[in-house]
Amino acid sequence: MRLPPAALAALVAVIVVVQGLLLLDPPTLILGLVDWTGHFATIAILLAASPRRLPTALIVGTFAATLIDLDHIPDLFGEEGISDVTPRPVSHSLVTVLVAGAIAAAVRARAPRYGDFAVGVALGVAMHLLRDVFTGPGVSLSWPLSAEPVNGAFLVYLVAMIAVAAYAATRSRRVVGPA
Ligand SMILES: [Zn+2]
Repeated sequence: MRLPPAALAALVAVIVVVQGLLLLDPPTLILGLVDWTGHFATIAILLAASPRRLPTALIVGTFAATLIDLDHIPDLFGEEGISDVTPRPVSHSLVTVLVAGAIAAAVRARAPRYGDFAVGVALGVAMHLLRDVFTGPGVSLSWPLSAEPVNGAFLVYLVAMIAVAAYAATRSRRVVGPA
């Protein structure tokens, strides 16, 4: 997925604006939509840095993986069952990445037509958790082994995103003609 430098710069700006809005602690629905915007921007930057031309189904899958946040919905109804020991629902864990990876491998073997999409979903879940580590309360990556959240500084994630976007921008400039 190639993006022009201006688009990459805009995506970095989106990440900064999103973080500012999240710090204002908006109502849950708005918070969810704003947070998803941050995830979409992150995924777009990471995909733009891919050295290979990515299948459309894989790209769609990575964005679709943002639906993992639907696991927050039980919380909205006071159902604390899946997040009473961890800051985010327990499905925000490396276990989910492993399960999504295993499913993707199975889909590729049994129904290759949907393989790219399934791989995209697995990659997307990993990208999602990566951003969640650096925003909000962090993620209990090693649940169920430990509920201890992994939480990085937003600045580290921002600098990394700027670096990836800069790399993707130099790549898009090197390419001549249709990609
Ligand atoms: Zn999340």
